[in-house]
Amino acid sequence: MLELHDITAGYDSRTPVVRNVTLTVAPGEAVGLLGPSGCGKSTLARVTALLHRPDSGTLLLDGEPVRRWRHRAPRAHRTVLGVVFQQPRLAADPRLRLTDLIAEPLRATGRRDEIPHSVGELAAAVGLTPDLLDRRPHEVSDGQLQRACLARALVLRPRWLICDEMTAMLDASTTAALVAAVENYRAASGAGLLAVGHDQLLLDRWCDRTLHWDDLAVGAKTKPDQPTR
Ligand code: ADP
Ligand code: ADP
Repeated sequence: MLELHDITAGYDSRTPVVRNVTLTVAPGEAVGLLGPSGCGKSTLARVTALLHRPDSGTLLLDGEPVRRWRHRAPRAHRTVLGVVFQQPRLAADPRLRLTDLIAEPLRATGRRDEIPHSVGELAAAVGLTPDLLDRRPHEVSDGQLQRACLARALVLRPRWLICDEMTAMLDASTTAALVAAVENYRAASGAGLLAVGHDQLLLDRWCDRTLHWDDLAVGAKTKPDQPTR
């Protein structure tokens, strides 16, 4: 299970942007989280991806409480959690060819021998041709770069995937291709998904269930995971 319990987070402790959020994703489940721009979805996604320390609350990954959050997620956790952000140009090192971008997590975890096979397989899965793999980020489109970022997020075969507005900047056909690549990976691996976004049609089609931000960021409202008193 991926479990968030009563998470409050923000950028100064007096005015949290995430308030008392509780939600769970079961193994293999795809959960959408829908909310308008600016409501705090990315902040919650970064808390879940171990990149932003919450002010209070608990995050459990397969029963283990998380104790460390860092600007860069602890390496060991990247085999557990894969993350794709909205803006691939902020997430991708501009110096790396796409092939090295995808391979970097394998290199960083001492699994160089897996690089040729895994990069080839993932490039095909996300629809990147060999000529694109040789280019650097400024030589490809946003959609092509996001395909590489998704491949990078999958290369350590994480049990959980967090997609934060993964397709918000992309056209319909690239969106469909990336969602299909995620779903193929999930079908093969049994990974769970938290997909954050503002497009209800997309999340409803993609996910097993869609949660609405206003029902989570409770304050006085009822938490969906708890019985009404
Ligand atoms: P969403 O993903 O729903 O658009 P965000 O989590 O990005 O929402 O932002 C929620 C609120 O937190 C916004 O008011 C935003 O301006 C603020 N915020 C986001 N990132 C930062 C930051 N690094 N420093 C200060 N405030 C931030
Ligand atoms: P390091 O160079 O210390 O190994 P990382 O490889 O952990 O640093 O981080 C490199 C990039 O990967 C950063 O831009 C970071 O935002 C992103 N990142 C962090 N956590 C994850 C994750 N769980 N999955 C995928 N990418 C991540």
